[in-house]
Formats: sequence, structure tokens, C-alpha cells
Amino acid sequence: MEAYLDNSATTRCTEGVRDVVVRTMMEDYGNPSSKHMKGVEAERYLRDARETIAKTLKVNEKEIYFTSGATESNNWALIGAAMANRRAGMHLITTAVEHAAVLMPMQYLKEQGFRITYLPVDEKGKISLKDLEDAICDDTILVSIMYVNNEIGTIEPIEEAAKLVKKRNPKILFHVDGVQAYGKMQVFPKRLGVDMFSVSAHKIHGPKGIGFLYVNEKVKIHPLILGGGQQKGMRSGTDNVPGAAGLAEAAKEAYAHLDESTAHLLKLKKRMMDGLRGLPERIVIHSEEGDKSAPHIVSAAFPGIRSEVLLHALEEEGIYVSAGSACSSNKKLPVSTVLKELHLSPELLESTLRFSFSRFTTEEEIDYCLETLRELLPVLSRYARH
Ligand code: PLP
Repeated sequence: MEAYLDNSATTRCTEGVRDVVVRTMMEDYGNPSSKHMKGVEAERYLRDARETIAKTLKVNEKEIYFTSGATESNNWALIGAAMANRRAGMHLITTAVEHAAVLMPMQYLKEQGFRITYLPVDEKGKISLKDLEDAICDDTILVSIMYVNNEIGTIEPIEEAAKLVKKRNPKILFHVDGVQAYGKMQVFPKRLGVDMFSVSAHKIHGPKGIGFLYVNEKVKIHPLILGGGQQKGMRSGTDNVPGAAGLAEAAKEAYAHLDESTAHLLKLKKRMMDGLRGLPERIVIHSEEGDKSAPHIVSAAFPGIRSEVLLHALEEEGIYVSAGSACSSNKKLPVSTVLKELHLSPELLESTLRFSFSRFTTEEEIDYCLETLRELLPVLSRYARH
């Protein structure tokens, strides 16, 4: 048996996504910039994709720009906005628990002379609104906060944060890395006061190498990728029609099944958490119960057993998970990883695994993982350092 419990790393494409990707590669393969029929046909795929995505967010299709994924979306949002607004100020705010795709462009901007404030988080991974309020100054031009943390599933108070920022100064731009939220919950940027929103297709059963950035039409940002002037000159490069069509199909399917998926994911999460608690070994669960954190992520530490050891032991049995501290080898990051920011002891830090689900994950997969843990943990604990 196999249990793929690493859906926050990436997901398998659906058949609907595969079909539209194949069709736009093999039959309707035109370049949307071409003036002939093949081009017009391809252009229609792009237009439809934008329309589908815009509907899921209740925004205008003109505000959706396709990118190569969320890493590019985040880089563009941060660097593009900072460069376009540098005359208004040189201060940016983010959190200490962002993905590297936010932390690294922030580091780059620091090297360009911007000042960056990293908001700390509490033991559950949440920022404090008071810290955010205190951090805002006359020089602040941009705030970037992730919606759902990719390592432990914490949901940040985006609506309250956006309200606070806009009340203080409506000109401050608010960017959200929405990778782990989009397709899992309803997100309406305009209602929330979010100016820019980054999304990746491969986390929601779409293809890899495609994503989008929502940019409110009133917001001015500089393009990062210059060339043939595609996407209104904001993001040049021959349009990735198969990617865009695949992403739109994935988004449509995700939102068509949202309620049942959420209920299913919450059930899986509870089953996993209850199962972990039922094991005789000491296990420390970092993620919050039920809908207090993301429905698809359970992060837990197995004290005394190094995460890599357990990850590979599970892999031997056909179970695929992530080591919660996988990013800690990145020495270039200006701040430590999410888990370090939670002030976990080294013992917990070294022994954390992330189990992440999709709407296609089954209860059997969860049970198989729990049974395997029940067999493996006593064996591996014998070698544990005490
Ligand atoms: N932001 C978050 C929160 C993520 O989880 C990821 C993916 O791991 C990314 C950004 C990067 O997305 P992509 O793989 O599309 O570049």
C-alpha cells in the first residue's frame, strides 16, 4: 500500500487538468500573440482561464497575471511594489515564518537599502496585531503576511491585519502569500483589503511551473520580466497556455468541491491527530485542532527520533511525508525556520514531521500511516538519544 501524505509539497494532477493540458499542447497549441485562427483560439483559453480564476476570488479578470508559480509571484509582488513605491518610503514589514519565496526577496530588498521588520509569532505560529501596529511607521510602504503557514498550518489573521494597515495608512500595500490557502478556503481579496495575492497551481492538483499574482487594478507595481510585452507589458514571455488552462481547471474543480473537501479534510485531520495521541510514545502535535488551523496540515514531533530517520523509515513502507524542518539547511535565510520561531526545544525541532492531505487522501491512507508508526516508533525509539 502507498500513502502520499505530502500534499503541501505538491499534488497529483486531476484527470480534468491532464486532459486540458494535453489538448492545449497537442491540438489547440497556438501562440495567443499570433494573429491567425490558432492564436485566437489559444487567446480564448487564456481569457477563459483568467475569467475562471477571477470568479473564485470575486475580482476582475484584468487583475490576474500568470506567472511561473508562487515563487515568481512573491518575488514580483515584493520587488515590483517596493521599486514602484520607493519614493513614498523604504520600510517593509513581513513575518518571521514566511516561505523562502518571501524571505529571500526581502533579503534582496534589504541589500538594496530597504528596511525590513520581521514580525515574531506565538507558540502556535500566529503574529500579534499589536506587534504589527507597532511596526508600522510613516516610512512603511508594504506589508506581506502569509495566509496559511506551509509547515504547521497556522492561519494568520489576514482580515484584521489588512484592516489595521489600511486604517493606519490606506497607501500601504498589503500582499498575501496565499499558496496554502487558495483552493482550501474562500478568499476574497477585495473584501479582505488585500492588494496582491500569490497562488501556485501545483498545490491544488494543477501543473507545476504555473501560478498567478492577483494585483488590484489601482495598485502600481513595476514589471520584473521584460520582453515581448505580453500580459499588458507586466509579465513578458510567451503565454503558458497549457499551464494557465490547467491551473484554471484545477481552481474550478477545487472550488466546486470546497465544502465537501473541507469536511473531508477536517475528518482526516482529526483521525490523524486522534491516532497520533493514541500511540504509546510521546508525540507533540504543533498544529491546532479542527478549523483553528488549516484542514490539510498536521505537524508533529516524535521526540528522540530524528525526522529524517523516521521519514525514510516511512518511505520504506510506501508512506511519503515531509521533515518539518526541511528548510533549516538554508543558511542564507535572515531568520530561522518556522519551527525555530515557535521556540521549540532542539529535541522537538529535530524530530518534526509534516503530514499533509488533499481532498483525494483516504482514511485508509491515514490508518496505514498510523499502523506503520505504531510498528516503527518502538523500534526506532530504542536507538533514540536520551
Ligand atoms: N509559498 C508557500 C507558502 C509555499 O508553500 C510554496 C511552495 O512550497 C511557495 C510559496 C512556492 O511556490 P512555487 O512552488 O509555486 O514556486
